Amino acid sequence: MPLSIPFDNSYARLPDQFYARIGPSPVANPKLVALNETLARELGIKAGELRAPAGVAVLSGSAIPDGADPLAQAYAGHQFGGWSPQLGDGRAMLLGEVLDANGTRQDIQLKGSGRTPFSRGGDGRAWLGPVLREYVVSEAMAVLNIPTTRALAAVTTGEDVMRETALPGAVLTRVASSHIRVGTFQYFAARQDTEALQALTDYTIKRHYPDAKNPMDLLQAVITAQASLIARWMGIGFIHGVMNTDNTHIGGLTIDYGPCAFMDTYHPARVYSSIDRAGRYAFNQQPEIIVWNLAQLATSLIPLMGDEAAAVKQATEALHGFRDQFLAFWITEHRAKLGLKRAMAGDDELVIDLLDRMAQGQADFTNTFRALADGNARDQFLDPALYDGWHKRWQARLAQEGTDWAQQQALIRATSPALIPRNHRIEQMIQAAVTGDYAPFERLMAALAQPYEDVADYADLRRPPTEDEKVQQTFCG
Ligand code: AMP
Ligand code: MG
Ligand code: MG
Repeated sequence: MPLSIPFDNSYARLPDQFYARIGPSPVANPKLVALNETLARELGIKAGELRAPAGVAVLSGSAIPDGADPLAQAYAGHQFGGWSPQLGDGRAMLLGEVLDANGTRQDIQLKGSGRTPFSRGGDGRAWLGPVLREYVVSEAMAVLNIPTTRALAAVTTGEDVMRETALPGAVLTRVASSHIRVGTFQYFAARQDTEALQALTDYTIKRHYPDAKNPMDLLQAVITAQASLIARWMGIGFIHGVMNTDNTHIGGLTIDYGPCAFMDTYHPARVYSSIDRAGRYAFNQQPEIIVWNLAQLATSLIPLMGDEAAAVKQATEALHGFRDQFLAFWITEHRAKLGLKRAMAGDDELVIDLLDRMAQGQADFTNTFRALADGNARDQFLDPALYDGWHKRWQARLAQEGTDWAQQQALIRATSPALIPRNHRIEQMIQAAVTGDYAPFERLMAALAQPYEDVADYADLRRPPTEDEKVQQTFCG
């Protein structure tokens, strides 16, 4: 049965300097370990065809389906503040694009599919751990309605990849409304290739922001999209971990799940990533870092904006506008988490007071917000008296709402999930998968499909890690 994917590949029609065309990289023994049938359906691809050997060959990068235009995208980026003029897809292959059920253009990309002209010293491969982590976390984000790339499939390759030890190789099929990054703009700006920069700008506007009329509109739109995204991360306790400009998506999607983590115990300066020694990408740094990244986008777009002095002034003002937009998204998100619909002065202080006490009381981020609806939030604090002082303030504020407790409770439950993919459960799931046991993966995926429900069977997945289970560090893979 041949694989019939209705490709329409607009990126491959862009000028040559946007990418390197690549061919298949066959692997020894591809096996499907996860398939997102719902997503396949939305993309107009038959799940049965993906499951068949010809489909699995495509999902492993061993075969190229009809209609694909496989390529590795060029981009640059600042990594931990240091400039790299050429990064690009060193281990990814854009197969092509399809229009989904909503008419949105979606990239179908393989990650871990072999070397490309952008691989530098790398092997172009991924191992099973990060592939399954991205699968679980990106799909959890999607269910939580946080803009994100998606996971269509995961296959093992039957080949080992060498990291510190030999590990099972795997390929993730990632779906996204594009893979354009701030670093894609930086790539052409650094080369002073104004023609390509203009082509990229036109392409991006058409694909992501059709109402934008010029590069300044594009900049403004990306600022707003990122302000909204980062507010969602902050409201869910998510730490991206590697907010380099090449991992900053132009459409405001969460992209490139590496050493990312959901916080267990709340601390504003929490860092998990083993490579982030200075805490550049700590939880509470994320709103500031994104402005730094957006400033790199602004710098890249200036050459397209006409009079330079005027453009710099306007772009600077746009960047300064980030803060108010972010705070508006942030307070709206957190108000709902407290069961509040009305906006009142002092709401931000009420939220900050709770967060301060949570940090002091070593409260679990997810479970504390959720417990507000259950009336037992004080149990989450090492010293429950820390909570009691805040509770009185909150009750007084709830009384000003004009809604009843049942409505407020429902609002809290709809904005604060009972379940997020906890780091220790991800680690346990990966350890099992490496031995060929995918039951923990399947169970995690089943549980995360309904994160706002208190399903009795999944109580263990809601429990914070014990001292022994605690994941201290996460890795890039
Ligand atoms: P990332 O850390 O995934 O954001 O990747 C940063 C850059 O390193 C990108 O250009 C990747 O394509 C490249 N890269 C990461 N891992 C590999 C690998 N195993 N082989 C080749 N290139 C890689
Ligand atoms: Mg071309
Ligand atoms: Mg990346």
